[in-house]
Amino acid sequence: MFNDNETVREICEITGAHTEIKRAVRKTIALYVRGNGTLEIRCPKSLSAKAIIKLVQEKADWIAKKINKAEKYSGRHYIKQVHPGGSIPFLGKDCPVIETDIFAYGAKSNYGDMKFYVSKGLSREKFLEQIKEIYKKLFAEILNDHIKYFSNIMDLYPQNVRVGTARRSWGSCKGKNLTFTWRLAMADMDAVDYVIIHELAHIKHKNHGKLFWKEVEKYKPDYKECKYRLDELAHKIEAENL
Ligand SMILES: [Zn+2]
Repeated sequence: MFNDNETVREICEITGAHTEIKRAVRKTIALYVRGNGTLEIRCPKSLSAKAIIKLVQEKADWIAKKINKAEKYSGRHYIKQVHPGGSIPFLGKDCPVIETDIFAYGAKSNYGDMKFYVSKGLSREKFLEQIKEIYKKLFAEILNDHIKYFSNIMDLYPQNVRVGTARRSWGSCKGKNLTFTWRLAMADMDAVDYVIIHELAHIKHKNHGKLFWKEVEKYKPDYKECKYRLDELAHKIEAENL
């Protein structure tokens, strides 16, 4: 039987979509984008990964349009659990989010216990805007330290590192320029390190071939568990529209 995990990963990189492959007794292949933005691929039991990826590449524009539509729709309907008075994960740890009108928004660390402060009475949009700014700043410092460390041991050096706002990928590597989404700061440090190693490895290997994964595994033997936890986090981010 097929193990579609790798194919799903590949498709995620192309479309940015959370993807599920459903094999069944059928003759044709069909693509669906669910209301929550998940790309569902229904296909024959024996269809090769190559054929599936080829179709996804051909239909990439169509998929992007459908996902956009689903996002707009779901944005109105999801229950939002991260809010002032609640908590938000930072490096894998749930940290309180507190409203304040005494000082400007930001973060405070008390013996490693992080607290986030946002202005009082914000709209959802403005609230996330403040969280994003705080995260970007905090995360950039941590990222740079860890990238330096892994660059040295992997002997792979990026030209530029940026914290961006991508919704559907944790990191990317173009040439020697690495970008990581601020949302990655919600993951645990181990998972963050995996994404760093993944993108650094792309400086050397521009695909997800055997050599690429060998390189990743060399520096992160438990990378599969990290991927699993990142998938879980992606669900939360999607469900809560963060
Ligand atoms: Zn990759």
